[in-house]
Amino acid sequence: MNTLVWFRSDLRVHDNPALHHGLNRDETDENSVAALYIICDEYIKTHPVGPRKLWFTREALLNLQESLADAAIRLDIIRVKKSADISQALLKHCLHHEIDQVNCNAEYPWDELQRDRAARDLCEENNIKFKRYHDRCLIPPGALTTKQGDPYRVFTPFSKAWRQLIDQTFLTVYPKPSRKQSLKVDPETIVNKFSGLSLSEVDDDHWAPSEETALAQLGEFCEAGIEDYHERRDFPAEPGTSCLSPYLSLGLISPKQCFIAAANSVSGHWAEDPGVNTWITELIWREFYMHVAVAFPQVCKHKPMQAYTDKVSWRRDNKVFDAWCEGRTGIPIVDAAMRQLNNTGWMHNRLRMITAMFLSKNLGIDWRWGERYFMEQLVDGEFCANNGGWQWSASTGTDAAPYFRIMNPINQAERFDPKGEFIRRYIPELADVTGKNIYSGEGAKGYRNPIVDVKQSRNEAIERFASVNKKE
Ligand code: FAD
Repeated sequence: MNTLVWFRSDLRVHDNPALHHGLNRDETDENSVAALYIICDEYIKTHPVGPRKLWFTREALLNLQESLADAAIRLDIIRVKKSADISQALLKHCLHHEIDQVNCNAEYPWDELQRDRAARDLCEENNIKFKRYHDRCLIPPGALTTKQGDPYRVFTPFSKAWRQLIDQTFLTVYPKPSRKQSLKVDPETIVNKFSGLSLSEVDDDHWAPSEETALAQLGEFCEAGIEDYHERRDFPAEPGTSCLSPYLSLGLISPKQCFIAAANSVSGHWAEDPGVNTWITELIWREFYMHVAVAFPQVCKHKPMQAYTDKVSWRRDNKVFDAWCEGRTGIPIVDAAMRQLNNTGWMHNRLRMITAMFLSKNLGIDWRWGERYFMEQLVDGEFCANNGGWQWSASTGTDAAPYFRIMNPINQAERFDPKGEFIRRYIPELADVTGKNIYSGEGAKGYRNPIVDVKQSRNEAIERFASVNKKE
């Protein structure tokens, strides 16, 4: 028996069902386990996977290579040009190494599901078993439906059903593979496979791409940060959130590990603790958008969840879009947020909502442009959360903000960055501005005038939506 574990967004050895079941396929020593990761140039370009996430992936693979080697598991890397080549490359690898079973953990966006269907069919045609496990969600897509048997379109009832089911679910964390005589690793085999790709190192203490760092950070957060998460999470100048998203996005940590650590951090039921309850609600949002991607695959094909919103006349103005990308809109909180993204590869959740709404509503630019730009820049770029967040902000999605409820970025700054600390951190031009002008940028030398009038552009956005709504 030769089992291959095909790693994708699950770059860890702890709590990895595909790896665990691969290793436990047979009690005897006759089952040998090997690992594989496939890099695809076309996938990187089209999805896109940005340079920071690529760097993070490479570093995480180097770490995984060592962890697997401690369990005498070899990690091979293959690079293919086209997405359509993936299944053939997998088959060739299996035949060459006499693999009789492939294990993997599911990924849910449409392209990934199609990739896995093609791989499964080709494997099975060649008498190779193909086993798929679920690790990206605590409750897999499809397992929760309304009383009528339909997938949920709205978060609150989804969350209620999720909470009920999780309370009845027995959760176990799979141990990491036991130590064996370690294999010698050659990092160059991984580094070479990334050659020619654009990688960008993420210079941040939070994100050392290893499982150990992810687990340590989760531990620290559950010990110290989660307690007042509900009070601090909306203030970008404070370190009020877990910063675990890059790890969750590439699977250096599992949502199950996160849930258990959070739930165990309090003595009573987790839902009764405001900090833990609020944090787990965010994990439920993460799952909700994965369930939505499976149930409504149009969202994976550049389509809005609410079809009528495609009739909104979205602007396609490169000059305005570039100003937003580069943090030159003249709206301080938007510019500071975009500069945070461009400098660090991460943006606070409140700011993701503000910037996304500003682009799609006040500037009227097609939300898909912003969705793509985020994926290019983010170290935690994850299709379902990103698409869900963008469609929410643009009022095109499931639970979307009603189109007439548009955040005013100046009021948002006053509310969530009251001392202007975050704005000053990223906009040196505003360092000396005092009082309320820090929220609007008014009177600051060397800082541009707003690209739009916030109130007027808000009314125009409502009008753009209302006009297509009426035609429905
Ligand atoms: P915490 O507040 O500590 O939350 C814990 C975890 O829950 C996060 O790591 C994340 O995995 C999940 N989570 C939190 N909020 C959300 C949410 N609203 N939707 C889905 N999952 C959530 N998240 C990504 O992981 N990748 C993306 O590409 C992404 N793009 C986004 C785009 C927009 C326009 C918006 C509004 C949100 C986006 N989010 C994305 C969700 C959210 O902003 C980030 O997950 C969060 O800021 C990460 O910081 P954290 O790890 O400190 O989160």
